[in-house]
Amino acid sequence: MSAADPNCVFCKIVEGKIPSRKVHEDDEILAFHDIHPWAPVHFLMVPKQHLASLAQVGPQHEALLGRMMALAPKLALQEGCRPYPQGGWRVVINTGDDGGQEVHHLHIHVFGGPRPWLKG
Ligand code: 5GP
Ligand code: ZN
Repeated sequence: MSAADPNCVFCKIVEGKIPSRKVHEDDEILAFHDIHPWAPVHFLMVPKQHLASLAQVGPQHEALLGRMMALAPKLALQEGCRPYPQGGWRVVINTGDDGGQEVHHLHIHVFGGPRPWLKG
């Protein structure tokens, strides 16, 4: 596992140095509610290891990314997203400046719940 980046806000959340409202935790993945939700349900899923963005992902991360994507539907329903197909949710990975990424620790946004949403 990569060392935590001392300047990274999500590494600090993973380490418990910044509090968060946790949705899920296992040995590799942490999920927590976004501090500024855009939708009735809005949480983030992060690898515990510091990875700056999707741009740094390679073959060695296939299992981790697969686990994160496979976990998303379970957590979405657990957190109040309505079932597919009438319900559902949106999954977003902002990557780099053009992608609108503000926190440079890879994270998957999961948005859901009845519309309208603040954004999107
Ligand atoms: P990005 O634009 O990088 O895809 O999204 C970063 C997200 O992290 C934003 O939606 C922002 O509200 C959220 N965020 C930033 N700092 C914190 C924090 O300290 N705690 C939590 N829970 N969310 C944060
Ligand atoms: Zn980090």
